[in-house]
Amino acid sequence: MARTLDPQTKSEVSARLAFYREMGIYGVYRRPVSESALVEELAIPEESSLPKKKEVLNILQPALSHAEGLVAIREDIGDCIRCVLHKQGRKKIVFGVGNPEAELMFVGEGPGADEDEQGIPFVGRAGQLLTNMITNGMGLKRDDVYIANVVKCRPPGNRTPERDECDTCSPFLFRQIETIQPKMIVALGAVASKTLLGLNEPMARMRGQIYDFSTPVRPGALPYDGKLVVTYHPAYLLRDPRQKKETWKDLQIVMRYLGISLPAKTAE
Ligand code: URA
Repeated sequence: MARTLDPQTKSEVSARLAFYREMGIYGVYRRPVSESALVEELAIPEESSLPKKKEVLNILQPALSHAEGLVAIREDIGDCIRCVLHKQGRKKIVFGVGNPEAELMFVGEGPGADEDEQGIPFVGRAGQLLTNMITNGMGLKRDDVYIANVVKCRPPGNRTPERDECDTCSPFLFRQIETIQPKMIVALGAVASKTLLGLNEPMARMRGQIYDFSTPVRPGALPYDGKLVVTYHPAYLLRDPRQKKETWKDLQIVMRYLGISLPAKTAE
C-alpha cells in the first residue's frame, strides 16, 4: 500500500538525496520498512520448526550496498579535524567521485585549488588530463571509474602531503577501496604509490608492472585483495609531457588486465 511521508521526514529524505547526489551517487533503493514491521509481515512463530524470525531477518537484511558503504565512510569523516589540513585553508573535503561498483579506481595525492573549490577530485588542469586519459585513451567514461585521493583536504599551496597527514587520512581511502572492491587500482604518482604499496622506490622503478595489493588488516575491516599499477601523476605529465608515452604503456597494462579493448581511434 502506498504510504505518504510527513513533511519533516520528506524534507529529511530530500536532504539525504541531495547529499548523495553531491557525492556522485545517483542510484538509491529503499530498505524494508522496519525490522518489527517485517517480523509482523513474516509472522513466523518463534517456536515453529521453521527458521527463527531473526535468522530470516538476517538473510533478508541486505548488506550495505557499495553506495551506502561510501556514504557511511563520508559520514564518518564528518567535518574532519583529524590533521592540520583542516585549519590550513581547506574549503571542501574532497571525498571521491564515480561509480561505487567500479572495476577500476584511480588514486591521486590530494586536492588542489579547483578540487577544494568544487569538492570533486581531479577537476583542474591535471584532472582534465586524467579525464582525457580515461575517456580518449582508455575509451571509458569518467563515471565508469572511481577517483579518490590519499588526503581529502587541500595541502596549502599544493604542497606534498606530509607522511602523518597521509597516515591519518589513508584509513578512509582503504575503506573506500574495501567498499568499492575494484579489480584494479591505478596509483597516480609517488604519494599514492608509496602510501598504498609502502614502497620507497623511484617512480621509474615502481611503474610498468602489476602488483598484488591488499589493504592493511584492521579489526572489523572488509578484506580487499586486488591488483595495482603505478603510473606518473598527471600533474607531473603536464610538466614533463615526454613521460606521457610511459603512462600510456601503464594504462595499456591496466586495459589488458581488465579486458578493455583499445578505442577505435587509438587502435588504428
Ligand atoms: N591532484 C591530485 O592528486 N588530486 C586531485 O584531486 C587533483 C590534483
